[in-house]
Amino acid sequence: MRVGGFLPSSDRRLTVLSGPSGVGKSTVVAELRRAHPAVWLSVSVTTRRPRPGEVHGVHYFFVDGEGFDRLVERGELLEWAEFAGNRYGTPRQAVLDKLAAGVPTLLEIDLEGARQVRRSMPEALLVFLAPPSWEELEKRLRGRGTEPEDVIARRLAAGRVEMAAEHEFDLTLVNTDVKDVCRRLIALMTDPQGVTTST
Ligand code: 5GP
Repeated sequence: MRVGGFLPSSDRRLTVLSGPSGVGKSTVVAELRRAHPAVWLSVSVTTRRPRPGEVHGVHYFFVDGEGFDRLVERGELLEWAEFAGNRYGTPRQAVLDKLAAGVPTLLEIDLEGARQVRRSMPEALLVFLAPPSWEELEKRLRGRGTEPEDVIARRLAAGRVEMAAEHEFDLTLVNTDVKDVCRRLIALMTDPQGVTTST
């Protein structure tokens, strides 16, 4: 894991967690929300329809295409990307407000969004969440059981491309244990010098 060469810890408050769909990013985020409320998790805007149990304003802000267009036109999104036929974006002002207040802030976004953040906020720490193996990732995607086969196939294809992007990130965390990933993330966000190893 590459840990050195970043910026002073006070500039590391924005952390981006990315990785292939199905790797378990949302499970990590749910665990963070439950066990580490001191970290602020950005709530994205999406044109995707809510899944069962998803709550507007908690998991996403669900908008239609025109609503998303307006946010883009007004420059209200820090980054946005299209994924598997839907658009996703990060509301800019909320993130800037939290950073200005010194709150450790996490974005859970796709690879393209992470690249945009890298360009606009080079001080951000980009963390790649990797599966223990490709087979495990495929199993997780198929096991979700909420999407039709053509959607899963699109997500697998996108996942293969995303796996190849690992080298663009500052460091990798392998998602073998969600609590361990959260502990490492928290340590990175609050005390970057305290983390020297990764699996
Ligand atoms: P899902 O539909 O499974 O919730 O998310 C699909 C993908 O969109 C995931 O890879 C997730 O990380 C990504 N995503 C969620 N919110 C955002 C966002 O605000 N911006 C970008 N670029 N990607 C996002």
